[in-house]
Amino acid sequence: MKYVYPFSDIEEAEQHVGGGWGEVRALLGGKGANLAEMTRLGIPVPPGFTITTEACIAYLIHGGFPLGMWEETLKSLKELETETGKRFGDRENPLLVSCRSGAKFSMPGMMDTVLNIGLNNETVRGLAQLTGDERFAYDSYRRLLQMFGAVVMGIPDEPFEEVITAYRDKRGVETDAELAVEDWQGITERFKEIIKEETRRDFPADPIEQLKLAIEAVFKSWSGNRAVDYRNAAGIPHDLGTAVNIQTMVFGNLGQDSGTGVCTTRNISTGEQVLEGDYLLNAQGEDVVAGIRRTKPIAELAGEMPRAYAAIEETCRKLEEHYREVQDVEFTVERGKLWLLQTRNSKRTAQAAVRIAVEMSEEGMISREEAVLRVTPEQVDFFLHPQFDLHAKEATGKAGNLLATGLNVSPGAAVGAVAFDADLAKRWSEEGRGVIMVRPETKPDDVHGMLAARGILTSRGGQTSHAALVARQFGKPAVVGCAALAIDLERRQMKVNRRVIKEGDPISIDGTTGEVFAGEIKTVVPDIKDPYLIELLSWADGFRRLGVWANADYPRDAERARDYGAEGIGLCRTEHMFFEEERLPIVQRMILSSEERQAALDKLLPFQRSDFAGLFRAMDGLPVIIRLLDPPLHEFLPGYEELLVEVTELRLKGDDPDLLAEKEHMLRAVGVMREANPMLGLRGVRLGIHMPEVTKMQVRAIFEAACDCVKEGVDVHPEVMIPLVGHVNELREQRTALEEVAKRVMEERGVEVDYKFGTMIEIPRAALTADEIAGVAQFFSFGTNDLTQTVFGISRDDAEAGFLREYQEKRILPDNPFATLDIAGVGKLMEMTVRLGRQTRPDLEIGLCGEHGGDPKSILFCHQIGLNYVSCSPFRVPIARLAAAQAALKEY
Ligand code: PEP
Ligand code: MG
Repeated sequence: MKYVYPFSDIEEAEQHVGGGWGEVRALLGGKGANLAEMTRLGIPVPPGFTITTEACIAYLIHGGFPLGMWEETLKSLKELETETGKRFGDRENPLLVSCRSGAKFSMPGMMDTVLNIGLNNETVRGLAQLTGDERFAYDSYRRLLQMFGAVVMGIPDEPFEEVITAYRDKRGVETDAELAVEDWQGITERFKEIIKEETRRDFPADPIEQLKLAIEAVFKSWSGNRAVDYRNAAGIPHDLGTAVNIQTMVFGNLGQDSGTGVCTTRNISTGEQVLEGDYLLNAQGEDVVAGIRRTKPIAELAGEMPRAYAAIEETCRKLEEHYREVQDVEFTVERGKLWLLQTRNSKRTAQAAVRIAVEMSEEGMISREEAVLRVTPEQVDFFLHPQFDLHAKEATGKAGNLLATGLNVSPGAAVGAVAFDADLAKRWSEEGRGVIMVRPETKPDDVHGMLAARGILTSRGGQTSHAALVARQFGKPAVVGCAALAIDLERRQMKVNRRVIKEGDPISIDGTTGEVFAGEIKTVVPDIKDPYLIELLSWADGFRRLGVWANADYPRDAERARDYGAEGIGLCRTEHMFFEEERLPIVQRMILSSEERQAALDKLLPFQRSDFAGLFRAMDGLPVIIRLLDPPLHEFLPGYEELLVEVTELRLKGDDPDLLAEKEHMLRAVGVMREANPMLGLRGVRLGIHMPEVTKMQVRAIFEAACDCVKEGVDVHPEVMIPLVGHVNELREQRTALEEVAKRVMEERGVEVDYKFGTMIEIPRAALTADEIAGVAQFFSFGTNDLTQTVFGISRDDAEAGFLREYQEKRILPDNPFATLDIAGVGKLMEMTVRLGRQTRPDLEIGLCGEHGGDPKSILFCHQIGLNYVSCSPFRVPIARLAAAQAALKEY
């Protein structure tokens, strides 16, 4: 067994694990592997060696170094002495080393480090002579004592810091830099006393002893509370162990020709190809990170130390080329010579991620495929929603203005005045005020207020509550299920943790994180028109096989969808048009009175015609799927309970007999239509069969609009879709009725329109008999919202408000099946549907228009089972384009 690898021996480590980079990282830790890799690349890294994670694991199990490890360590130390020409413990020319942890996965700050190992009362003088800087030597010594005391001997930092503070006060100076040699000498003496007092042991003067204890302490820090908690949170296994890196110390604090800094090889906020970072002259690494001294931007180093700066540029270029990724590096310049202490792939904003991927590909560093694979769908999502300015948000939180946290159901930041009902939200926003609509929960007749508001906040509801669905569809930031809000609609206020927020008060909500703040927080808006994003998505389009369409009910949504790259409308829910203010009374008349029905429908026809014409124009040349009326009719009527209360009150007062009669009539009608299970009741195709006049009017409107548009020169491709079909006979019956209308309209208008007739697949029976259904339908569209409900036998609204969360917490279900397709169940049915459908009709067009159409995991599955397209909210179109491309690229 070999436990120690010099940085220059990476080949041997590779042989030992017999594998690739992942295995080398597992053995040497990320830091050790990168130091060895940099050494191999000829990048100046202070020489050193790595003690493996295997040694750490053995140490933790047996409570001692594994056999041979210490001998190997001493041998490598000898080699280090030869290489540097210095000697460990030598009075004249002492070698100093650092001892740092480094696990396979980065665990920033979670484990321990000891610097300047090798100093004692003798060698400190040697260091002073060697560097000609006594002050520096004693400062280095006290750093060793302090770190060793903390890490190895378990002494808290406070007693040490108190001593330094006392010295500063005594000298009347502000900073450590102003303390003199004598001060540091006094401080080191005092530090040694503290160690003795606290532990009843002397600080070990023997450098070998120091090294041994430091290695043990770093091994043990793998099992420290901090590290264990971090691994639990980050999902890192506990049995990996940490490697230990022993490395020659280099000093950035040897005068004005020395310095230290950190930089990234590109700007990680914007992605621009410039070095970004900070440095300090005459300082050590921790000074830069600790923020005690004011750092300078790296560009200034070009003026102060041109040669070192050129070397940094050159090194960064080499590192990027090698890793083909933006690097985050730590460097030290010791008397003009550059040393690299660390490199790793750097974190970045969404905007930077996109630009970097595109530019690296254009520079020939990575392929276009890789660029598309490197950006995550979540990063694309960022471009579509305003975000809070991070500093402003942090400050607001610190000032105690975080009110509560709910479910983060629709990303983005929104700021506005609280409005407790939809009408007020609409009115205020028409007056130019920003509004956050706050409700216990929302209903279809709140939609006008939701559209007018900048954001939506509810105290109840879950991931696919009405509020969440509508918010996502329209790209409105939303936080729902925020149980801490006690909303009092009577008094027009809400209480949150004893704080009262009144209607009109400003709040800020973060739909990306679910946080709700009092007051206004500054926002910034990234841009979908970002040229790099446009480029990246155009590459993605070239790789994907799956089409991306959008769900849109209005021309403005269709235009946006098209702008974002949608290739068709996969679902226009016509019922949304029925809810509009001037139409709703007509719709109600149509429902309530069979005598007035035809007259009401005649009034609705022109509205619908112009709705559809708008969609066709917006989607000129592309398919538009219009779904006939789907929801149970009572959704368009007032609630039964509400009416009952009104009628009772009117009866008691007895002063308005006309109104009473009207309400009683309504109550009876609504009573007749009440259903025990509306979701499984008279809706969808059943409604079309029961009340054919309605669907006939809709089909007439579709074809009149289509014919008119053709005459205008618009290229129209309507597809008429029947919802909730379970039996092929339902579809047959509807087709006969509707084709007749279509034919008649085309004759009247003297225009031929190329159209398709098809169905949603959202009832298990339809899926099971897809071969029969495909005999009648020219296209299928999976309505996975209803299909998930019916396959699970779960009512979405009830489940999300209740037991579904518990199911997820108890891991009974891995994901919310209404957000991410249940592949084992619903997915299996879909796969079968595709097979059966295409058996009958090989060119059957099959898409998906449920919520899942915008979910990357579900998109991958749709690609795999060979759907033609997914259809999602316009705001998710760019995300779906990327996810579909990634699905195709992952296949190879
Ligand atoms: C569905 O059921 O997936 C669907 C798209 O229809 P809706 O959500 O309107 O019921
Ligand atoms: Mg449905």
